[in-house]
Amino acid sequence: MAKKTARVIVTLACTECEERNYTTSKNRRNDPGRMELSKYCPRCRVHTLHRETK
Ligand SMILES: [Zn+2]
Repeated sequence: MAKKTARVIVTLACTECEERNYTTSKNRRNDPGRMELSKYCPRCRVHTLHRETK
C-alpha cells in the first residue's frame, strides 16, 4: 500500500465567521491553490463560501 500520496486532507473554514466546518481531501495536482467551496455553515445558518485553511 505504498501509493504516492498526492491527495491531502484540507480543512474548510467559513469565510464569514471563520468557523472550521469541514474537512475534505483534494488532489494537489488538480488543485494547487486554495480550494473554495460553497457549503452550509451551521454558525451563520446559511450557505457561505468556505476556503481551505492550512
Ligand atoms: Zn460561518
